[in-house]
Amino acid sequence: MMYINGKIITDLDREKIEVINPATEEILGEVFRGNAQDAISAIEAAKNAFNSWKVTPAYERAALLHQAASKMREHHDDLVRLLTEEEGKPIPENDEEWWWSEETFDYYAELGRHDRGTVIPPGESTQFNFIIKEPWGVVGCIIPWNYPILLLAWKIAPALAAGNTVVIKPSEFTPLTTLKMIELAFDHFPPGVVNVVTGYGPEVGEPIVTHPDVKMIAFTGSLATGQRIASLTAPQMKKTHLELGGKDPFVVAPDVDIPTAVSGLAYAALLNAGQVCTSTERVYVHESIFSHFSEELSDFVGKLRLGNGLEPSTDIGPMLRDKFRSKVEVQIKKAVSAGAKVLIGGKRPDQLDRGFFLEPAVLVNVDHSMEIMREETFGPVIPLMPYKTFDEAIILANDNQYGLGASLMTHDAKLVKRFFEEVHAGTIWINDPLTDNFAGPFGGMKMSGLGRELGQAGFDEFCQVKHVHWDIEGNLKEYWYPYGEE
Ligand code: NAD
Repeated sequence: MMYINGKIITDLDREKIEVINPATEEILGEVFRGNAQDAISAIEAAKNAFNSWKVTPAYERAALLHQAASKMREHHDDLVRLLTEEEGKPIPENDEEWWWSEETFDYYAELGRHDRGTVIPPGESTQFNFIIKEPWGVVGCIIPWNYPILLLAWKIAPALAAGNTVVIKPSEFTPLTTLKMIELAFDHFPPGVVNVVTGYGPEVGEPIVTHPDVKMIAFTGSLATGQRIASLTAPQMKKTHLELGGKDPFVVAPDVDIPTAVSGLAYAALLNAGQVCTSTERVYVHESIFSHFSEELSDFVGKLRLGNGLEPSTDIGPMLRDKFRSKVEVQIKKAVSAGAKVLIGGKRPDQLDRGFFLEPAVLVNVDHSMEIMREETFGPVIPLMPYKTFDEAIILANDNQYGLGASLMTHDAKLVKRFFEEVHAGTIWINDPLTDNFAGPFGGMKMSGLGRELGQAGFDEFCQVKHVHWDIEGNLKEYWYPYGEE
């Protein structure tokens, strides 16, 4: 199905894309392989809906968003289960993803009705100056597979609250939960305000990106796709919001409690089988504790239980697809042939013959010449390097093209201050990696993207600002022509 102009579309003559459960490799469902015509139908519906949606009182838009959050909560358990089957991560992680998503709609419902701009001091007492925030119009929201609902919520909640209408393109790997959520929780919105088209990026994503009636693109995904989208939107000077990849560093200072730091690191690196944009992918441990730390980490990681995310005992689910697992295996293999040592993991588990599982790995003897320390891995791998001085740790942390997040474990306030001032990353976590805050802007520095989601900044992205300069008296001005009057 697709969802266009308030209607569930089931009768299209299109090929189908099969959606696979990554834990069982079974077909979970199928969706239409959409094309440019589908994108255009959704864009036209969103364009037609925009004129009345943008003037709908903000408190009415807020009420509809709160209602969406309530309906999501009513269906919470079923949707969590479907997301687990579709994306693979364990139930507690999907439970969290839904909770954060539901709350995001409530958060932006309130923010959207609070603020329409500001009044600023005028240059003359006869003048009145103010800034109004206006919606862009139709926003194309292009979503990845790893947090398909949360990253959708971070876009459509502020977009709708600000008065935009949306065309959503979910990932071809995880469209089912999105369609179910829109069907169950967004059916009370006016037709055309929310639309979903399914299919592949080049076939249905690019027609959204390039259509002149789409005034903004909000994209989360890989750097390569982000660069492609930016090249397509540049000729139209289209507002382009890009949340891209990462290679997040994690620094362990010598004062840590080792079991606590090990546990925090394992969470930061292995959540969602390491398939988080802000997954820890490079670890720098002070040389004085390095060997003790790596032993404890290997012990801890070796005890984590792989399995189907639906099983309550599962700590780590499968990777999404075999091709993503193979990419990680190749990175490990290349690192080993360049001198790295695998302390534990990195193999396909013998006990699970179906599903795209990979045992979480801990690597030592790594350095920055290796792909595994430079390129995004997006899998369950923890490579560890020792450092001598904190200067060195900061240089290593900054030695990457990405700048999404960075973590530090310490109780030394001087190190904390240096870390948050000197490390180039959009989010800095001290002693609590990968935790979000609704009001805390999220996004990347360097090649990790442009713009911010969440918080006030994440609302303002979906507004264009207009400065109004009003001279109320309207008298002749001495600075107009002619100059130099005698
Ligand atoms: P991807 O770039 O392959 O795909 C993302 C989306 O873009 C999908 O819906 C895809 O169909 C679509 N797409 C692909 N080609 C397109 C094109 N030419 N035009 C328009 N749309 C196109 O990324 P992915 O594999 O789904 O997600 C993983 C990546 O996302 C990782 O690099 C990860 O770091 C990144 N990510 C970033 C954040 C963040 O907030 N910065 C969050 C999650 C994931």
